[in-house]
Amino acid sequence: MKKILLLPGDGIGPEIMEQAKKVLACFPNLFECEEGYIGGAAIDKFGNPFPEITLKQSTKADAVLLGAVGGPKWDSLSSENRPEKGLLAIRKALGLYANIRPVDIWKSLIDLSPLKPSLLKDVSFVVVRELTGDLYFGTPRGYRVEKGSRIAFNTMIYSEEEIKRIAHTGFTLARNRKKKLCSIDKSNVLEAMVLWREIVEEVHRDYKDIALSHMYVDNAAMQIIKRPADFDVILTPNMFGDILSDEAAVLSGSLGLLPSASLGIKHALYEPIHGSAPDIAGMGIANPIGMILSVAMMLETSCDSADLAFKIRHAVAAVLDAGLRTKDIWSNGMALASTDEIGTRIAESILT
Ligand code: NAD
Repeated sequence: MKKILLLPGDGIGPEIMEQAKKVLACFPNLFECEEGYIGGAAIDKFGNPFPEITLKQSTKADAVLLGAVGGPKWDSLSSENRPEKGLLAIRKALGLYANIRPVDIWKSLIDLSPLKPSLLKDVSFVVVRELTGDLYFGTPRGYRVEKGSRIAFNTMIYSEEEIKRIAHTGFTLARNRKKKLCSIDKSNVLEAMVLWREIVEEVHRDYKDIALSHMYVDNAAMQIIKRPADFDVILTPNMFGDILSDEAAVLSGSLGLLPSASLGIKHALYEPIHGSAPDIAGMGIANPIGMILSVAMMLETSCDSADLAFKIRHAVAAVLDAGLRTKDIWSNGMALASTDEIGTRIAESILT
C-alpha cells in the first residue's frame, strides 16, 4: 500500500484538497493517506512553515500531494518565516530537482485560450524544468553599496552532474511520448549554457531514438506561442523554465487546470501550478481540476497506477464535456458549478 502525505496548505488549498480526497477514495485499499501542515497553516499551528513533523512525514511518504501556500495573513512576516519558505524547504529537504508541467488543451475548453483554436489543435507538451541550480541558488550573490552606488549580482552556475540528471529525466519522458526533446539555452552568450548544451548532447547518445533540437530561450518564447503543437518535451534550466512554463500555462486558458510534479531520486511532490488564490478562498468557486490532475500524475509516476490515472483524466474530460464549469472557465450556455460539485461529479464519473 502506497503512503501518501496530504498537505492542504492555505487559501483554496484545503478546498481543492477535499476534492482530491474524493478521487483517492474511489480506489479503496490502495493508498494510506496521512494529513499534515505546511505554509501559513503550519505557522499558525507550529510557528514554522515547514515544521519538523512535516519533514518526518514527507520523508516517510511515497508521495506528497500539496494544495498551495501563502496569503495576506502572513505577508507581514520576514521572508525567512513566510509560508512560501515552507515550499522551498520541502523541495530542498526531499531533493526535488525536476519540475514537470504537462500542458494539454481540453477540447471542450479550446475557446478559453488566448490563442486561435487552429494553433491549439494537437497541442500536448511537457515542460521539464531544472529546479535546484542556476541563478536562484548560485553563489556569489549579493546586494550592496559601493562608493555610494548600489550594486547587485547573482551567479548562473551549473555542474555537469546537475545537467546530466535533468537531461536523463527529459529524455526518459520523451521516450514515453512523441520522442522529441527541445532543449532551451542561451549558449550564444552564456558559458553556463554552453555547458548545458554540451551535456545535453552527451546524454543524448544514450537516447538515439529521441529527436533532439536546441533553441535559444528568446526564440522559444516566440515559438511556444506561434507553433505550440510542434513541441513534445521542453527541457529547460531553472530560470528560463520559470518563465517559459508560466507562458505555456496560459495556453490552456486557466491556471486552475494544470497539474505539476516535482521529482527527486527518492521523493516526489505533486501540486497544481497555481497559488493559494486568497481572493476566492472560502467562496467555493475554486477550480479543483489542476489538483485532481495532480493526483493522476501522482498515481502514474509514484504509484505504478497508469490505469487509474487514465480513469481520472477520462472522468475530468467527461465532466467538462457535460458542460460543468467553475467560474474561471465558465462561458455562455455552460452550467456553473461549485468546487465541491465538480469534485463530486468527477469522483462519480470515475466510479461509473
Ligand atoms: P494565484 O495562483 O494564487 O492566483 C492568481 C489568480 O488566479 C487569482 O485571481 C486567483 O483567484 C486565480 N486562481 C488561481 N488558482 C485558481 C483556481 N484553482 N481556480 C480558480 N481561480 C484560480 O497567484 P497569486 O495571487 O499571485 O498568489 C497568491 C498567493 O499564493 C501568494 O501568497 C503567493 O505567494 C502564493 N503562491 C503559492 C504557490 C504555491 O503554493 N505553489 C504558487 C504561486 C503563488
